[in-house]
Amino acid sequence: MKTTLRTDITVREICKGFVYNEFEGKGLFGLSGTLTIQPEYQRNYIYADGKRDVAVIESVLKGYPLGLIYFNKISDNKFEVLDGQQRITSLGRYVTGKFAIQDENGIPCKFFGLAEDLQQKILETRLLIYECDGTESEIKEWFRTINIAGIPLNNQELLNAVFSGPFVTLGKEKFSNSQNPLTQKWSAYIAGVANRQDFWACALDWVSRGNVGDYMNTHRYDNNIAEVETYFNTILDWISNVFECVESEMRGLEWGRLYETYHKTPYNPTDVNEKVQELYADPYVKNRKGIFEYILGGCKETKLLEVRVFDEATKKSVYKRQTTKAKENGESNCPLCALGNDNNHTKIWELKDMDADHVTAWSKGGATDISNCQMLCKSHNRAKGNK
Ligand SMILES: [Zn+2]
Repeated sequence: MKTTLRTDITVREICKGFVYNEFEGKGLFGLSGTLTIQPEYQRNYIYADGKRDVAVIESVLKGYPLGLIYFNKISDNKFEVLDGQQRITSLGRYVTGKFAIQDENGIPCKFFGLAEDLQQKILETRLLIYECDGTESEIKEWFRTINIAGIPLNNQELLNAVFSGPFVTLGKEKFSNSQNPLTQKWSAYIAGVANRQDFWACALDWVSRGNVGDYMNTHRYDNNIAEVETYFNTILDWISNVFECVESEMRGLEWGRLYETYHKTPYNPTDVNEKVQELYADPYVKNRKGIFEYILGGCKETKLLEVRVFDEATKKSVYKRQTTKAKENGESNCPLCALGNDNNHTKIWELKDMDADHVTAWSKGGATDISNCQMLCKSHNRAKGNK
């Protein structure tokens, strides 16, 4: 790979012919049309937060260095930005009046409201640009390396870069577009945001059963994403058909795995909804995220709910009561050992060798309080728990 350092290009030149696509949230072109600012494999513009974009302009006005920018040379007079697209898009958006910075009096000031000399200072600022000329794989390998600086690419953004092509373009159009009104609906069940590729990553994870890289490699040059979309919609439909309610804890669950495991089981949505509400109202359920899989699995795996356990004071108090009584009666302080005929029939266990047990199981309505607590030796407690 050949690299050339350019120090002659000014902000004015970079911003000549600047095009920003509000709909996609992308800086598209600059440098009189010869520069593609955000190639398809790049993340969308994420500096538009009134902080990072403003910081770019303030840095320029203060004469601070903006850092290195890398262009990938595609042909003689065609480049794309490898690293620096966020900074360049911020510059382009500012000089085209898309956002304001605050002047020394704290008054918001767009580019055309700036004093003439400050406008010139921005436009005449020279950028430090490396032009890189290499093969696709060289560029992409190296791109993985340089992007460690700044905001690192997340895993899906890297995969988009490595497997860039028509499939990724179509996927991003559908799943990574914050303006897509469907993202609202998806957000009920999927955690994350469109422009960091979270929905796209989720759709791929589902359809590939977790083998996203292989899947993207196989479908890299496909001209459609039908399979991804169909499977994604199938899962979302299934969730909303089984669960009438939308609870915040549903967001980010492993719906792909849950669908694969349970979609052949019939459910009555009314019963499911009642059960959800009942468990939400149950003060002993510690892990509400586990409620949905617990119900899908037929309300058996109480582990999923992390039902509250007895506290130490309760355990000690019950231990003391049982042990005193056991000594009086000359039998074991584990009530199940006391019933048996072996050597443990009269054994007095130490507290550390016993565990607390719900007399009436939590799943049958038993409370997690002292009235429903008994201490069992560890092996009897384990045996009971496995029933
Ligand atoms: Zn026992």
